[in-house]
Amino acid sequence: MTARAAGYIGRFAPSPTGPLHSGSLVAALASWLDARAHGGLWLVRLEDVDFTRTRPGADRIIVQQLAQCGLQPDQPPLYQSQRSAQYQQALDALVQRQQAYPCACSRADILAELARKGRLPARGHEAVYPGTCRSGLRGRTPRSWRLRLPEDGGRPLRWTDRRLGEQAQVLSQEVGDFVLRRADGAWAYQLAVVVDDAAQGVTDVVRGEDLASSTARQIALQRALGLPTPRYLHTPLVCDASGRKLSKHEGAGAFVPGRHSVQQALAVLGLQVQGQTVAELLQRAVAAWRQRWVRVP
Ligand code: GLU
Repeated sequence: MTARAAGYIGRFAPSPTGPLHSGSLVAALASWLDARAHGGLWLVRLEDVDFTRTRPGADRIIVQQLAQCGLQPDQPPLYQSQRSAQYQQALDALVQRQQAYPCACSRADILAELARKGRLPARGHEAVYPGTCRSGLRGRTPRSWRLRLPEDGGRPLRWTDRRLGEQAQVLSQEVGDFVLRRADGAWAYQLAVVVDDAAQGVTDVVRGEDLASSTARQIALQRALGLPTPRYLHTPLVCDASGRKLSKHEGAGAFVPGRHSVQQALAVLGLQVQGQTVAELLQRAVAAWRQRWVRVP
């Protein structure tokens, strides 16, 4: 059976803001293992839409580091910076159906409006867009574009994660109409990821747990664009001594791609396999992953 016949396409989608580190290797490895365990395709997509954070050359370093860990994509990597026309097309389609609208609010405007309504976010929480520009700009200059969320009447959008189980988020109350194109012209991650997952035929998204909170937004956007929803599996995060998610900055220092880092990443994924070489480790890890995560029909 060919990979396509198996009906599985997975991907690893790093933002090239710096080299890979032990946390991002866990997500890369999990997505690769799941693709191999299903006999599917594994793609790499470089998410370089945020030009304020992209570091020149980081893309090549990441691809090289992945190869040093035995992870070779089945197709040449896709670069989001080359996909503006597709994102524009998606935005145009949404605007035409009045599912997206221009917004004139700066962050300060949003916070002022939330303060006026007594709805300032609690510490560590995102500001929920109060809908100021939903019914028009009233002569103000447009800055960004937002998705017009469908009326959910306070009902949660529900989805199932293969590892975390049932998930639910009331987008209207917890997020609000979110940005699709930023004021600086950059395409928002949420739009780019949804357009590209669909364009690449991705059936299974396997990525770090920090992105679980974006999934309901992505499903809402898939529905607005008439695109299919993939299956999701969010992997454990690598934390520092104080329990915070390892950032690229902190994690990169001691990271040496190769057998040792692969073994460590496998341990984070709960796979205690041994091996003398990267290839041996990966082969055993695919078998262990299959047993744990692949449902035999
Ligand atoms: N580019 C995102 C990141 O590096 C990941 C996107 C995804 O896997 O959906 O955090």
